[in-house]
Amino acid sequence: MKLVLLGPPGAGKGTLAALLHKSLKVLHISTGDILREEIKNNTPIGIEAKSYIDKGALVPDELVIKLIENRLTSNKEFSNGYLLDGFPRTRKQAENLDEILKKIGQPFDCAVYMDSSLPLIIKRLSGRRVCRNCGATYHITNRPSKKDGICDQCSGELYQRPDDNEETIRNRMDVYLQSTRPIVDYYKAQGKLMQVDGNKESEELHDLLLKTFDAERKSYKY
Ligand code: AMP
Repeated sequence: MKLVLLGPPGAGKGTLAALLHKSLKVLHISTGDILREEIKNNTPIGIEAKSYIDKGALVPDELVIKLIENRLTSNKEFSNGYLLDGFPRTRKQAENLDEILKKIGQPFDCAVYMDSSLPLIIKRLSGRRVCRNCGATYHITNRPSKKDGICDQCSGELYQRPDDNEETIRNRMDVYLQSTRPIVDYYKAQGKLMQVDGNKESEELHDLLLKTFDAERKSYKY
């Protein structure tokens, strides 16, 4: 299965992607995770990206397109497909992605669009905690870890992403509406869009998607 996950910050793309990665055994590519790794390693890309991410702005197209192109062209683990999470985020990225996927002969099957309401987004993101070590995500009330501040999976330290404060969340939402939301219509026009309710819990969406993919197995190659 080859999928693109679209939706506002806090729609639950990362959590759904982790579930789909496990069940479909597809390659999970998250530009947010790649950029945070670059920041952690203090690379020139990371240093440049940090100034944008901390403000809730988008990292320049040229930089993220290059990162994605490198990942997609250097990776040969496409036997079960892939899952793009957080990319594309602009029309230019979407157009470049079409070209890259055409070049490597791996066009995606479907763009899953998770829509979500602003109050829920703020609640989800401001209470989100992430493991510094393995990247697993929790929520202080909806999905708390067993031990306060400690990851259930690897005992790593949980932290709050610096861009998960209310002011930055509102900036990210404005940027989303202006730059990313138009991609929904771009994919709708291509007949590749599947809209799901991002207000639902990720587990429920995951089960629903698997059932839908199964019913449409004949038209999707996986
Ligand atoms: P995420 O983890 O997907 O919420 O991404 C965190 C931040 O990384 C975003 O708010 C952007 O600043 C940056 N980022 C991630 N993916 C992209 C992208 N495709 N284009 C531009 N910036 C991105």
